[in-house]
Amino acid sequence: MKYLPFLLLLISCIPDPKGEQYIDSKLQPYFDTFYAEAEKLGVELPTKDVLAYFEEFDGYRAWTYWNERIIRMRVDPEIHDWESYSLEVEATIFHELGHGYLNRHHLEYTSVPVESLMTIPHGGRSGWIDGSMREYYLNELFGDKIETNK
Ligand SMILES: [Zn+2]
Repeated sequence: MKYLPFLLLLISCIPDPKGEQYIDSKLQPYFDTFYAEAEKLGVELPTKDVLAYFEEFDGYRAWTYWNERIIRMRVDPEIHDWESYSLEVEATIFHELGHGYLNRHHLEYTSVPVESLMTIPHGGRSGWIDGSMREYYLNELFGDKIETNK
């Protein structure tokens, strides 16, 4: 407890996020689509500093660290050829942004059909990729943050 005043001072010195972004240009279209979908649903996203870049993994498609101020997303370049827009990649990035912007955590995989993009390991990808469930998953993803009187 002796250090509490010092800690509080430190915390209050951390500047607010400025909304600064470094997003790899190949990932940018997926972020733009996410922002557009949020706007369509009337969801106001929190201001955060965003860093998103490629890094090779074993066993993960992407990985995100987030807190109230920042989102740091790493994406395995091997998951796509990055020549075209992919709904499969979109599902991955939206899942990660569900963590980062919406503070959503993983849901357990219990049954078919998968009910959320945040369910692991399957995350509703098949219904997202063929388009049949995309709207449903978008509504579920943004959930109670959707402005209901719109
Ligand atoms: Zn996840």
